[in-house]
Amino acid sequence: MIRYLTELSMEAFTEAARNVPYQQVESELFPGVDLWIRRDDLIDPIISGNKAYKLIFNLLEAREQGKDTIVTCGGAWSNHIHATAAAGQRFGFKTIGIIRGERPPVLSAMLQDTERFGMELRFVSRTIYRKRAEEGFWAQLGLSGERYWYVPEGGANEQGARGVEIWGQVIRETCPVTMDECWLACGTGLTLGALSSSLELSMPCVGVAVLRADKSISDAVHNWGSRNRRAVVPDPEIITDAHHGGYGKTTESLRRNIHQLEDSTGVRFDHVYTAKVIWALKKRYLNDAPRRSYMRHRSVLLIHTGGLQGIRGMYKK
Ligand SMILES: *Cc1c(COP(=O)(O)O)cnc(C)c1O
Repeated sequence: MIRYLTELSMEAFTEAARNVPYQQVESELFPGVDLWIRRDDLIDPIISGNKAYKLIFNLLEAREQGKDTIVTCGGAWSNHIHATAAAGQRFGFKTIGIIRGERPPVLSAMLQDTERFGMELRFVSRTIYRKRAEEGFWAQLGLSGERYWYVPEGGANEQGARGVEIWGQVIRETCPVTMDECWLACGTGLTLGALSSSLELSMPCVGVAVLRADKSISDAVHNWGSRNRRAVVPDPEIITDAHHGGYGKTTESLRRNIHQLEDSTGVRFDHVYTAKVIWALKKRYLNDAPRRSYMRHRSVLLIHTGGLQGIRGMYKK
């Protein structure tokens, strides 16, 4: 059954997060592993995956402070832009999306959706876009004023991290079996950092970098993870060899893996994020585990962080 987030409240959101199913996987891709997928792609079909968790406190605070417009920025295939536009429409905010680059003659499928959701798109040059974290950026675009609530690219702010911490609590409370590891995709690193610190030692996390990782990712993971840590938790492992050429790059072998896992589970996966997690998991458990007895029969939780609307970009150049 498809469920939608219909009410903007912490209670309703937490309830939705608690109802996210865990699905046990039987697949020859992961022999000897007790693999479970937490289906956060289902928390809402449109405001989905980790972007929902990053947005919730942004939306609640914007409403509390009487802001009527959410302003944010991203690229043409940004899941964050898509989720923000959908959330604005659902919960009664105007939304403005600052998009990197020139407006193309034909908008990406993602941006077509966002316009349909009512988002006002403004395209800015890459030179201007690069200044998005600088002070005065929004004012330069004529977007300063009481009515605006600003969310940085990808939802990477304090409110975003708080939402992800709630996610960790919910996982601790609802996870059906004790897990040895929790795997998830890592872009900016906010989700990995905040989730791993909130899961604390109950479940060590492994992040799979979906882009060529440099120190900024491990720094972000560390910083978002130590925001209000109660215990000393080691930084999570970050796998850096699964990016397949960089952000959004995909290969035949990635596509084959996701289709194979889709066939055995009925779950769909996006090629930008979760496909790379599956690839890295398979590499570890199909190739490495048989040689290492301590890795056999481990329970692994794979977080489905959503992003399914981006599949429409899979075959684009
Ligand atoms: C944005 C996104 C991520 C990455 O989240 P970060 O907090 O930037 O690391 C992972 N999966 C999906 C589907 C996403 O849209």
